[in-house]
Amino acid sequence: MTEPIIVSWSEIDAGRQCKLKHKMAYKDRWTKPVEDDSPLGKGVLYHALLETHFRTIHGHQEFTTGGKVKWDVSEDEMLRHCESEVSKFLAAKLKEGVDAYVLDLLSWMYAGYVEMWGIDESHDILGVETTHLAPLGEIMIGERVTPVVLKFKIDRTIRDKYGHVRVIDEKSHGQLPSDHDYDFLDQFGLYVWGLRKLGINVRGAIHSASKTKQNQGDIYKPGQPGFKANMKETPLEARFKRTPIHYTDAQLADVAKCALDDVQDLYSTSNRHQRQADSDRCKWRCQYTEACLFERRTGKPGDMVRMLERLGFNQERERH
Ligand code: SF4
Repeated sequence: MTEPIIVSWSEIDAGRQCKLKHKMAYKDRWTKPVEDDSPLGKGVLYHALLETHFRTIHGHQEFTTGGKVKWDVSEDEMLRHCESEVSKFLAAKLKEGVDAYVLDLLSWMYAGYVEMWGIDESHDILGVETTHLAPLGEIMIGERVTPVVLKFKIDRTIRDKYGHVRVIDEKSHGQLPSDHDYDFLDQFGLYVWGLRKLGINVRGAIHSASKTKQNQGDIYKPGQPGFKANMKETPLEARFKRTPIHYTDAQLADVAKCALDDVQDLYSTSNRHQRQADSDRCKWRCQYTEACLFERRTGKPGDMVRMLERLGFNQERERH
């Protein structure tokens, strides 16, 4: 029996962006530690902070007869527990050496998040950071039929006040995305498809966005040195946005089929791992830009790897 290939959304997404990037990240596994003050670094830390918040709430939930959820503390106490756990998280990060500027930003984001959404008292939390494996289908590698399994991690699965199960994914952005950005966001579609495949009746997804960029008025407060009367705080509704996303059955079937087709393409013996340069995508979302450009400039195969080593990348074989 052929061993299945396990793929994540990130891998499919990298493959859709560029075959060379996919090879470097998922076949050769070139990686380097993320800088805390980079957009990705801030996103990872914010994600971990919200995980702490929601795990705290989850830990105070009790299932009663009939599957209803109640809390073992009052709403005020719950908020205090959450804030206390998040403070401990931030203190631990400071000890680990995370930049104080980044931690101040995270505190500002968290205070705004709680002001905007409260403690989501109408949501029963069914899972926080749960990992799932769903069979995506089969591909051919040469003459071999190979099963493909989708591995996905869901930030939060909740049951809303109408009894509908939804998956929520937390994202941080420099600017909040516009609504049309969600129409072809296959990541969420795959999560909903995957859970339904596993027998969980999920109604849809919620994209929960938080803005990382601050105005001067968000940093300087009245009475503080540097404050000026014309400095304005960003209103909450311009900092946070939750967008429900719904899918038809046909749409989900196509999302899964497109993902499987892409995996077939990436793992096919005819994949040449070619550079698929595009100035926006290369600069915006590729960690290999400098090394890739270096090899292109010198015209010497292997110069990309030499430059990656010089830039502090290394190969992590056991990661997936
Ligand atoms: S810089 Fe562009 S072309 Fe080069 S690996 Fe990254 S995405 Fe591909």
